[in-house]
Amino acid sequence: MRKKFVAGNWKMNPTSAHDVVRLATEVIVGLKDEGRVTAALCPPFPYLGLLDTLLKQHKSQVLLGGQNCYIEKDGAFTGEVSPAMLLDTGCKYVILGHSERRHKMGESDAFINQKVGAALAAGLEVILCIGETLAEREGNQTEAVLDRQVTQGLADVKELSKLVIAYEPVWAIGTGKNATPQQAQDAHAFIRRRVGQLYGDPAAQALIIQYGGSVKPDNAATLLGQPDVDGALVGGAALKADQFLPIVRAGIL
Ligand code: PEP
Repeated sequence: MRKKFVAGNWKMNPTSAHDVVRLATEVIVGLKDEGRVTAALCPPFPYLGLLDTLLKQHKSQVLLGGQNCYIEKDGAFTGEVSPAMLLDTGCKYVILGHSERRHKMGESDAFINQKVGAALAAGLEVILCIGETLAEREGNQTEAVLDRQVTQGLADVKELSKLVIAYEPVWAIGTGKNATPQQAQDAHAFIRRRVGQLYGDPAAQALIIQYGGSVKPDNAATLLGQPDVDGALVGGAALKADQFLPIVRAGIL
């Protein structure tokens, strides 16, 4: 059985070290000795070191992730962060292909694929986000989009043991409008089938597929209760411990 994995994507929040410590401490204390669900926090880059220290002080099982990285190891790339730097700052994971990077920063599947390759080569585990826009869903393009994002995003990736996929319909992110449990299940089952065709059934069955898009305490249990929904990538609700903690606990089997 796949262990549920819930990650908090803090995006460009909170905006002070004080608030970062307060939020992280509430989450860490709330999840003390909770080993039944994998939980991770993905803060903005400047706070990774702070969080790494805090997690170690508390001997926490909560894991750390970055929200992005670049394709090169080092060099003249002003403003960028390498996969090795994330590892060195205590990260196990990096989120790549988030819809905000695809749609606000113009990242293409090919560029995301380069990042996936660089991150895996450095030893990070990748949370690859995929998902259709509202227009694509209404145009019956959902499966074609997911197919393209999986195939192109994973081009040249030989095996999936260090990969998580987050299905995040763009129309559900930060909108308060989540996919129904059945919509999520259908998309996840499609992704798992497609991954099975590309990598074989054992790899597809082992793959963690998170759902992301307005996950809240009141919808987490039904979403995470779907057979192919293996956890959640949480944005807005990850910024309040009293919302994030029940979402993580909804993953307890
Ligand atoms: C996200 O940013 O990955 C996300 C799912 O955001 P929200 O939970 O706020 O919709």
